[in-house]
Amino acid sequence: MCAAAMVCGAPECPVYEPLLLREIQPRGWMAGQLRNDALRGVAGNLQKVRPQYTPATWVHKTGSAGAAELTGNWLDGYTRMAYYGGYASERSKVNRYVREILDAQEPSGYVGNMPADLRWKRLNRDLFNESRTGVALLAYYEMTGEQEALDAVIATADVIMANYNEDNPPFIYQPGDENYRAEPVEGEEGADDFVDDGDPAKPKPRKINGHVLMYVDVCEWLYRLTGEKKYVEYAEFLYRQYSESNDIGPDDIKLDVLLDPEIPLEGHGAHVAEHFRVPFFLACATGKDIYYKASQAALEKFSRFRTPSGALVSDEGVHGQMPLPEQGYEYCATTEMTASLASALQKFGNPEVGDWIEWLVFNAAQGARTPDGTMINYLSAATVTRAKERMNLGYPHNSNGRWHYSPAHQVGGSCCTANAVKLMPYYVGSMWMRSADGAGLAALLLGPSEVRTRVGGVLVTIREETGYPFEDRVRFHFETAAPVEFPFEVRIPGWAGSVETYAPRAAVTEGKGRKIFRKKWRTGDTVELKFGHPVRLRECVNGEVAIARGPLLYAQPLPAEKKVLKKSRGGVPEFTEWELLPESGEPAAPWSIAPINPDAGFKAVENPAYDPERPWAHPRWFLEGPLYLRRGKGAVSRLKPLGSTFLRQAAFPVRRDVSPP
Ligand SMILES: [Zn+2]
Repeated sequence: MCAAAMVCGAPECPVYEPLLLREIQPRGWMAGQLRNDALRGVAGNLQKVRPQYTPATWVHKTGSAGAAELTGNWLDGYTRMAYYGGYASERSKVNRYVREILDAQEPSGYVGNMPADLRWKRLNRDLFNESRTGVALLAYYEMTGEQEALDAVIATADVIMANYNEDNPPFIYQPGDENYRAEPVEGEEGADDFVDDGDPAKPKPRKINGHVLMYVDVCEWLYRLTGEKKYVEYAEFLYRQYSESNDIGPDDIKLDVLLDPEIPLEGHGAHVAEHFRVPFFLACATGKDIYYKASQAALEKFSRFRTPSGALVSDEGVHGQMPLPEQGYEYCATTEMTASLASALQKFGNPEVGDWIEWLVFNAAQGARTPDGTMINYLSAATVTRAKERMNLGYPHNSNGRWHYSPAHQVGGSCCTANAVKLMPYYVGSMWMRSADGAGLAALLLGPSEVRTRVGGVLVTIREETGYPFEDRVRFHFETAAPVEFPFEVRIPGWAGSVETYAPRAAVTEGKGRKIFRKKWRTGDTVELKFGHPVRLRECVNGEVAIARGPLLYAQPLPAEKKVLKKSRGGVPEFTEWELLPESGEPAAPWSIAPINPDAGFKAVENPAYDPERPWAHPRWFLEGPLYLRRGKGAVSRLKPLGSTFLRQAAFPVRRDVSPP
């Protein structure tokens, strides 16, 4: 077991295997949030705001990069959402969309949205379009068992591998490419996007958009389902070519750049975040040392650019910026980071990566959406003192701030809406995994859920009953078709000050960040854990201090004035769009803290209006304690979970010249 490093050695990789998507179900508040988003949120109503995001791009082969990316990402998330206990209407919408895509399959086997004459010309992020199509269909396959969806992805992969290879390299421009230009499609976005290489002074070279590397997502998934090595070999070919090509960017994932610790992260955050799971996959699938080193380097670089709420610096590039409390991050980067960290957790088994995922999902991600699921912030931060449509807080290239609250943002900004749909479904899909030897089950990301799978040939259901992160207790209830012995593992979060366990007649072993319970499990068995979650202070890179309890970061809500930009969008009255401005005369983030003891005088107090079904709107606890205004005046403040706030101060300068009020 590797103690300091985040990546374990070859013999132990992967540590876990993912379960099929349909084997895990959300329960409690997670199921409630997903159901709400699917019925009333923008997730379930995207086409009212963006009517172009339908299967039309596949049916008519429009070649649009934006349509394939957005519809594909949305369909991936929405398929999971609909099958995580949505209603029949959601499922039938998903079934109808997938049917239209499958019906548009060509005799060659190809399923995609590129017109035949523009294929294999390195245009319009074509491989990325095909990757989004592929993951959406594979999610559908795992949820429904529909073999036709899997077969379509396999057939398309064969067509792709026959056309993009050493002879026609996908990531290196070829003579004559300039004669092909994809025309932007009216009303669709992203067709002519550029690659941000990090230097605002340089003219933007027209490079191949590095999203295309993510065809590796399809390779990894097909390898897992079929065991065929050709998918590993193709993924390695893609990564090697990406590393060696000057025609594609951003560069952060290129092996020589990644392995140089002196080079900071520079590129577009969403690209950086998604790219990092490529070496994770190749490390385990090939066993080659170079990819382990690359994986370790990737996780170390991620850590250096992690903002206080867990998100990667990404407004929209990383640009080597410090992960300050007010540093912006993009929703796309947060979702992609969640997926990449889940991949690292599965392969390398480090429980700290599990802590990081929970922190990111329960803080940054929940704090960049409204609890009712009607709006998201394209850009957000831990500390947000105003949320305007256009404002330049971060890197100069980002002239469209998109910090405001919107169901879909303007054209060019819907990427985040689609990716936000994936966020919680991806979390749920990684909550439970099987140990790599197949012998045991592990609860790796905590929260209300249920797993139902076979262990040792016996059907086992484990219900995880908890309001976590709004409850400190987690209870597991077992139901088995017959008594069956296996190790049952629970990740112990790093912030748990103490852990009490109740597991009658089970042998308990402990490792770093995990407890393993072993016995012959029978229906009616339970395992219960109770975490002691002290209030604790976390130091930020600028010396400011953030306040946390358990998996939640707490913030001081700031008074805000709402400026309505649009009263309704897409004919849905709830889909408004607004900015939040600081109340006139109020300084932006006025509070400071006096950390005279380890909790700075903050105590958890129960919220009498706690709603276990809608905990982000009505959270369980507040933290009460003293904060100080600039002139030294103290006041008892009531902090809320960051995911329950809008304008907020999440980190506080330290004062040493005051005594408690
Ligand atoms: Zn985005």
